[in-house]
Amino acid sequence: MGRIVGIDLGTTNSCVAVLDGDEPLVIHNQEGGRTTPSMVSWNAEGEAVVGASSKRQMVTNPKRTVFGVKRLIGRKVSDPSVQAVIRTSPYRVVAARNGDAWVDIDGTARSPQEISAHILAKMKKVAEDYLGEPVTEAVVTVPAYFDDVQRQATKDAGAIAGLTVRGILNEPTAAALAYGVHHQHNQRLAVFDLGGGTFDISILAIENGVFEVLATHGDTTLGGDDFDRVIIDLLADGFAAQHGLDLRVDTVALQRLKEAAERAKIELSSAMSTDINLPFLAANSGGPLHLTRELQRGELERACRELLERLDAPCRQALSDAHCTAADIDQVLLVGGMTRMPAVQERALAIFKKAPSKGVNPDEIVAMGAAVHSGVMGGELQEVVLLDVTPHNMGVKVTGDRMSVIIPANTSIPVRAKKVFATTEDRQTFVAIEVFQGNHDGASKNRRLGRFVLGDLRPAPRGAAKVEVSFTLDANGILEVTAEEVSAGEGGPRKAASVQLEASSGLTADEISALGKQLLLR
Ligand code: ADP
Ligand code: MG
Repeated sequence: MGRIVGIDLGTTNSCVAVLDGDEPLVIHNQEGGRTTPSMVSWNAEGEAVVGASSKRQMVTNPKRTVFGVKRLIGRKVSDPSVQAVIRTSPYRVVAARNGDAWVDIDGTARSPQEISAHILAKMKKVAEDYLGEPVTEAVVTVPAYFDDVQRQATKDAGAIAGLTVRGILNEPTAAALAYGVHHQHNQRLAVFDLGGGTFDISILAIENGVFEVLATHGDTTLGGDDFDRVIIDLLADGFAAQHGLDLRVDTVALQRLKEAAERAKIELSSAMSTDINLPFLAANSGGPLHLTRELQRGELERACRELLERLDAPCRQALSDAHCTAADIDQVLLVGGMTRMPAVQERALAIFKKAPSKGVNPDEIVAMGAAVHSGVMGGELQEVVLLDVTPHNMGVKVTGDRMSVIIPANTSIPVRAKKVFATTEDRQTFVAIEVFQGNHDGASKNRRLGRFVLGDLRPAPRGAAKVEVSFTLDANGILEVTAEEVSAGEGGPRKAASVQLEASSGLTADEISALGKQLLLR
């Protein structure tokens, strides 16, 4: 049996690690980087280019370069966060037949699963080149806040890339695992992960070698890209005031602005001021126009105040869900490239009232944790036990669009739970059960996972026919639903009724295998 590798499939950067003895080891990619930009582009010949080479050609090929595809995976075009991507991305987001958000490249609609598969295939190759043997199994990390659809889609991306995804692991849990293998004494951790696209906060307890997630919260629409956008607006507004031209409508200028914005943001993490220099950015009747200005750290922090404030509420919620206060937290782990920004560190310090842990590499710790988890699954590491939780309520829609919760948020997984429902009409012969995931009381405000039709019910007066719905949530946070009719009181035998699932998102098994063959042909 080959090795199971650990992959951090990030919004912005991905990283692969493997267990070397009982130490996780990050593997360099073919370009020498320890992380790989999560970017895929298609060249004029229609071939996919992944990673650093894709990032390099982004300015000249913006419409065929996809970054941040993780913000689209498992989401509908109608989702407000997808609408935000559409407003700001140079590539074209289109609706698939079922409303899923896909990307159009030169007239070919490509699913986020397929695009992510290219990144996973690259990470697979990185590991294979280092190990000198085929790699077919992986543990892949996802934000703790990912719902069932997003997790399933990530698993499907693995399948397209020729990887059996042995585990879907929450990123903060992965970070805690990597930290905890060397710090096994009993303690409480807060993992504060601000990456390029998402913010996650988890409170964990390590007790006698058992890692337990007590609560998890986050914001799937808050990340480094939003900070970049603030700088882009700052620069573009200044330019518009000076020259009366909006740079944001020109994709090449926008791409150059984005690169410069990110560079300035990163520089301002160590310097107090930085120079932005973009010659020949636009032109008017008077000739070419250049953008030159200085940006101060204070100016950046003031412009990003609203984004920084949005870090507070999820932290407070996670603390309260974990029934603790900041004083109960022993260690704060800062994860994700954005936690290098001093204002972000100050915010974390203000919330948790303690300095973050030293010696944690925010770019690598998640992949390292995934490698540790693969060691737990493969049996190399036995003393570690992992208990994770589900971040959302899961339930079904009942009368009045109410959400009847079957598995509450923050329940330890794997878990199986059941609930009995009664029919609402006389002689009802079938019931349609709509499954939702989310923390709103109104069902349709939550994520709709699918619809089950339970047929062949015995005709009975309303309320007399009863249906038992069972939810099984596996250790990856992926849900399976079954339902059966329960006899009405008289002690008669249980009758299994037929269940049919109509999934409302994702790819079919045939689509996954066809895409997998295409990827192999390259
Ligand atoms: P993801 O988990 O989304 O793949 P990363 O953890 O790699 O993301 O973080 C990427 C984000 O971190 C980007 O927005 C990047 O600009 C930002 N970043 C990286 N280094 C720094 C730094 N030194 N200062 C501020 N932001 C940084
Ligand atoms: Mg990350």
